Amino acid sequence: MLDFRADLHCHSTYSDGTATPQEIIEMACQKGLQGLCMTDHDTIAAYQEAGPYAEAKGLSLISGVEFSAVHKGASVHILAYSFPLQSPLIIDFCHQHHQRRLVRNQAILDRLSAHNMPLTLEEVHPQALNSQASMGRPHIALAMLKKSYVTTIQQAFHDYIGEGKSCYEPGYTFSVEETLDLIHRAKGLAVIAHPHLIDNTALLRDLLTMPFDGIEGYYARFAKSEQERWVKIGQHRGWLVTGGSDFHGAIKPSLPLGCSWTAEETFKRMLAHFKQHSMH
Ligand code: AMP
Ligand code: FE
Ligand code: FE
Ligand code: ZN
Repeated sequence: MLDFRADLHCHSTYSDGTATPQEIIEMACQKGLQGLCMTDHDTIAAYQEAGPYAEAKGLSLISGVEFSAVHKGASVHILAYSFPLQSPLIIDFCHQHHQRRLVRNQAILDRLSAHNMPLTLEEVHPQALNSQASMGRPHIALAMLKKSYVTTIQQAFHDYIGEGKSCYEPGYTFSVEETLDLIHRAKGLAVIAHPHLIDNTALLRDLLTMPFDGIEGYYARFAKSEQERWVKIGQHRGWLVTGGSDFHGAIKPSLPLGCSWTAEETFKRMLAHFKQHSMH
C-alpha cells in the first residue's frame, strides 16, 4: 500500500472540471488515495453528491472550495477548507460569487459579440443560470473553440479573454482581506493556492503578511526542488503545508488526480478541525 496521500485540490463538473464528483471519488479510490477534497471555483455544490458517496467508499472527505479574489488588481486564488458544509456564511458567499460570475460572464460575451464572435450564456453553459454551477472563462474558451472562433483554448485566453486582453472583464470582485475574514468567521481554514504560479513579487509579499492558515506547498507536477521554497515558507510561519493536483479532468490532461498530495499529519489536523466545527 502507498503512503498516506490526500489530494486537497480538484475540480468537478460543478466548476471547470470534466469529471463528476462520483467519478473523482472512484478515481481517488482506484489510485489508493485515503483523503480528498473537492475545491471547485466558488461553489460547494459537489458535496451533495460527494459526501454520501465518499462515505460509502470509506474515503475521508473534508469540505473545500477555491475562492476567487483580487488584490491590487491581481487575481488571487484562496483555498478554504474544513468549514461546516451547512455554514450560511459560506453558502451565501458562494451565491454572491454566482451573481458576480453571471454579470461578469455576460459582459465578456458582450465584448466577444462586439468582436464578431457572438455566443449566448446557454451556448457556453447549459446550466449557466443554475446557482449550483460555477461558469467561468474555461467554459467560454471551450465554446469559442466549438464555434471555431479560435483553434485552441490557449489562444482564446491569449488573444481575447485572458486578464487585460480585449474581451476581458473583471466585473466586481472580492478582496483577499474580506475573503479571509469570511472564511474565518465560517470556522474554515484559509490556504494560499498554488504560490508557484505567482510571479508578482509585491503581491506575494503582501499575501505573506496576511492571516492565512496555510500554503499549498505541494502543487500539480512541480519538481521537488520547486516545492521546497513554499514548504519552507509555510513551515517557518507554522502554517499548514497542503498539497493537491488541481485536477480538472480531460480539460487539463497533464494533471492527474493525486499527482501532488497532503501528508497524513496535516490532513488529520484538517479533518479534526472539520469534524469539530461541523458538529455545532
Ligand atoms: P474565471 O474564474 O472564470 O475568471 O476563470 C479562471 C480560470 O481560467 C483559471 O482557474 C484557470 O483554470 C483558467 N485560465 C486562466 N488563464 C488561463 C490561460 N491563459 N490558459 C488556460 N486557462 C486559463
Ligand atoms: Fe480551474
Ligand atoms: Fe487556482
Ligand atoms: Zn484550482
